[in-house]
Amino acid sequence: MIAPPVDLSGANTLGLPSRADVVRVITDTAALAAAAEAARAAGQPLTVLGGGSNVVLRDRIPGLVCLMRTRGVSETPSGDSVLVTAAAGERWHDLVRRTLGRGLYGLENLALIPGAVGAAPIQNIGAYGVELSDRFVSLRAMDVDSGSLRTFDRADCRFGYRDSVFKSGEQGRWIIVEVTLALSRRPAPVIDYPDLLLELERLGWQAPSPVQVAEAVIRVRRRKLPDPRWTGNAGSFFKNPVVPADVGRRLAAAHDLTVRAGEGGAAKLSAAQLIDRCGWKGRSAGPAAVWSRQPLVLVNTGAARARDILGLAEQVRADVHRRFGVELELEPRVIGQD
Ligand SMILES: Cc1cc2nc3c(=O)[nH]c(=O)nc-3n(C[C@H](O)[C@H](O)[C@H](O)COP(=O)(O)OP(=O)(O)OC[C@H]3O[C@@H](n4cnc5c(N)ncnc54)[C@H](O)[C@@H]3O)c2cc1C
Repeated sequence: MIAPPVDLSGANTLGLPSRADVVRVITDTAALAAAAEAARAAGQPLTVLGGGSNVVLRDRIPGLVCLMRTRGVSETPSGDSVLVTAAAGERWHDLVRRTLGRGLYGLENLALIPGAVGAAPIQNIGAYGVELSDRFVSLRAMDVDSGSLRTFDRADCRFGYRDSVFKSGEQGRWIIVEVTLALSRRPAPVIDYPDLLLELERLGWQAPSPVQVAEAVIRVRRRKLPDPRWTGNAGSFFKNPVVPADVGRRLAAAHDLTVRAGEGGAAKLSAAQLIDRCGWKGRSAGPAAVWSRQPLVLVNTGAARARDILGLAEQVRADVHRRFGVELELEPRVIGQD
């Protein structure tokens, strides 16, 4: 246990100053069970953090904060696939690199996403045409209320676009301890996402290997996204809005917008385009700014606190709503109190 109050500014990629009452670094399931038990006994809330790359931490986080640092990856052959099980505290990008290095394919499009394995199912991480749910088999999670462990299969997780049962519905109830994915020994690159395709063409890789796909993804990401080591950010701050098909058609015609097909015949708009059209790209409000190369990303330009980032997000949301009648939803989870 780390003595209170603990500064969490190094534990969130936005670099926001935030103090926790109590922090425990979790290195095994027994320590997690003990932490959950302690929080229950004290009647305190329990917050779990992996890499802190999808959260906005307010000034104070009451109760107990668990930093997931469990380690371990195992492989089990299963027909044409290999089932890879990784502990929640493993770094996601390390898992991508490790599996590629071992000739196990399927995660290449998800290279360089920050954070830990245990957080990947929370919002069903996705990038460049692939989502976690495409490779997902099952996970094990601890019930915060009872300390008991349960296995979730894909249907139990109710994955959606940047969503799962762990983000909507039962948020905060389950702590994911390990995740199992099915990867293939046979390469089957998914390269139809426009930015990725363009990069592969630029590199002259017409029939790319999975390692080359990962390399191309990394190049695009490095060009477009700020590196949290130097510029505090939480990746995309807004989800792409999903609207009924007829609304999508009307908006596209009225404003010349890009509309893609969403789940169940719905239309998916580009939040980046809506924000850009409102003139926010590169603009700042105090110590918070909209990233100049990708308007979906809000950055901490120096000494921002949660209220600065959320204040800017609110201005952006209000402008988009005024102009297009579309509600932007925040992607990161806002935690704590000011
Ligand atoms: C530069 C940048 C680029 C990004 N690009 C992408 C992208 O391409 N695609 C994408 O989907 N996301 C992206 N993200 C967002 C983020 O990296 C992912 O959502 C990632 O999975 C978050 O992992 P984390 O460990 O940092 O989670 P945290 O920020 O620590 O936590 C996020 C949420 O998950 C909960 N949580 C964390 N671990 C557990 C656990 N073990 N059990 C239960 N709940 C848990 C937390 O309580 C919190 O609610 C990006 C972020 C950055 C900074």
